[in-house]
Amino acid sequence: MQVVFCGVGEAFDETLPNTSILLRDRNRRSCRRILLDCGFTAAPAYWLNEPEPLELDAVWISHLHGDHFLGLPQMFIRFSEHGRTRPLQVCGPVDTKEKVSQVMELAYPGKWSRLGFEVLFREVLPGEDFELAGSKALALPVEHPVPALGLLFRSSSGTLFYSGDGRVRPEHGSLLAGCHLGIFEAFRVEMTTPGHSSARQVLELARSVEIKKVALVHMQRRERQDQADMIPSYMEKYGVNGFLPGPGHSLELQ
Ligand SMILES: [Zn+2]
Repeated sequence: MQVVFCGVGEAFDETLPNTSILLRDRNRRSCRRILLDCGFTAAPAYWLNEPEPLELDAVWISHLHGDHFLGLPQMFIRFSEHGRTRPLQVCGPVDTKEKVSQVMELAYPGKWSRLGFEVLFREVLPGEDFELAGSKALALPVEHPVPALGLLFRSSSGTLFYSGDGRVRPEHGSLLAGCHLGIFEAFRVEMTTPGHSSARQVLELARSVEIKKVALVHMQRRERQDQADMIPSYMEKYGVNGFLPGPGHSLELQ
C-alpha cells in the first residue's frame, strides 16, 4: 500500500494544505484509492498528487469540522465536470450525509442531484467494524470537541492508523499495538491542548505499544515553523521511528 501525504497542515495554515492522506491499496488485481479527510484546501492537493484522480474509490471523513470535510463540494463538482459516473463511497461519523448534503446545497445550489454519479454514504458508530473500499476498518472515538473518529485500516500490506483530529483515548492504545504506520495529529510538541494530542503524548503511546512507524501531522502552524527542525532528535529521544511529513511525501507499506 502506498501512502501519500497530500496535505499535512492544521485548519488555517497558509503554507500547507489541510491534512489529507491518500491510500493506494494495491493487490494483484486492482488498486483501491481512499482519501482520508477532505478539508477546505484538500481537493486541489489531491488533484496535484493523484495522476488518475477520477479513480478515487472512497473518502473517509474523521469528523465534521471544516478543515476535514468542507473540500467535498469542490471535489464532487470537479468529478462531475470530468464526467465521473462511478459511485463514490463516503464514510464518516453520524450526520455525515446530512451535513455534506447541506454544504453541497449551500456551495452549489441545485447541483447535488445532478452530479452524474452516486455518492454512497456509510455512517459509522464509534467502535464499529466496517468495510472501507473493500478492506476491513475499525472506527475508534478520539478526544475532540466534536464527535471524531480515528481509523484503524487493515490492508493486505499492513495496518495503518489515522487519528484524524484528536487524542487517542488511553483505553484504546492497546488496539494500536504493532501497527505498521500510525498517522497522528500532534497539535503541539510538548504543550497539552484539550481535545488534541501533543507530539510527546503520541511518541509515548507509540513507544509503549510498539507502533512501527509514526507520522506527525496537523501541527499548529507556528509550532511547526519554529520546531520542525528538532522533531527528528525528539523522535530519537523517545526511540520511535517517525517523521514529520511534508506535502507530497509518500511511502510504501509492505
Ligand atoms: Zn477538528
